Amino acid sequence: MKCRYMDEKCYEFHDKDVSDKCFLCTENSQKLFTVRQVASMKMVHLCGDCMVNNSDEYLLDNTRPWEGIKGKSD
Ligand SMILES: [Zn+2]
Repeated sequence: MKCRYMDEKCYEFHDKDVSDKCFLCTENSQKLFTVRQVASMKMVHLCGDCMVNNSDEYLLDNTRPWEGIKGKSD
């Protein structure tokens, strides 16, 4: 089921984010979390390790059901 939201602007992904790679280490791509980078308030994908190690700078964002693919931002 495809969901459309009226608040896409609040969920822009970071320019450098790649949907199937960890934003920080670009290595662990098995299980990625969609989190919000506090500095830019943009969404990025992080692996579990990086999320735990940088929990001050990245917030887990569960405010909407993520489909697991990068949203279009254009
Ligand atoms: Zn990582």
